[in-house]
Amino acid sequence: MTLVSVTKGVAVGRIREVIDAGLAHIGENRIQEAQGKFGVLNEYARTLNRRLTWHLIGHLQTNKAKDAVVLFDLIHSVDSVRVASAIDAQAAKIGKVQDVLVEVNVSAEKTKFGFQPSETAAAVGEIAVLKNIRVLGLMTMAPETDGPENVRPYFRRLRELMDECNALRITSQELRVLSMGMTADFRVAVEEGATMVRIGRGIFGERH
Ligand SMILES: *Cc1c(COP(=O)(O)O)cnc(C)c1O
Repeated sequence: MTLVSVTKGVAVGRIREVIDAGLAHIGENRIQEAQGKFGVLNEYARTLNRRLTWHLIGHLQTNKAKDAVVLFDLIHSVDSVRVASAIDAQAAKIGKVQDVLVEVNVSAEKTKFGFQPSETAAAVGEIAVLKNIRVLGLMTMAPETDGPENVRPYFRRLRELMDECNALRITSQELRVLSMGMTADFRVAVEEGATMVRIGRGIFGERH
């Protein structure tokens, strides 16, 4: 289980405290904010003989792919073949194979990014053939509801979609990563097979 500390809106001083406490996975939504923290936090980790792993969890615009491949170890939010192609092209330029997750809009909400469940397997197939991309798994955001039990079916669906992709042998290596669960619903996500949870408020308190 990987705990990704979601540090959007959190100042570097407070992020250093969680690094001191042993957390090594940093999740940011925006390129610009990540750029502002990247150097200073990596340097801080280095003084502790540690290395941070950077996760992009927010929507990525095609024109920011160049920066994203420089900054991030894992991009969770690949929500179109177009952005995957941009990532692939930029990764090729710097000789990197970029690890990614394919984002699925399991609740089919209009306001959310991600592939529809019915198009996920085909999308994974199209993205997985890109030479400078490696698809490790799937990511989703559950809808906000009044009770965590209400989101269980969405997490279960993501798990089933990964199993379907693996049964169809769409990727050369089995998909293994399920990034699902935030402060409000991570317990249910873990019960349904999450291998990565993304926690912001549960670590840092409410955002202001
Ligand atoms: C903000 C955010 C999180 C963390 O949410 P919390 O409720 O603060 O735990 C997780 N994933 C994504 C994509 C986010 O934007």
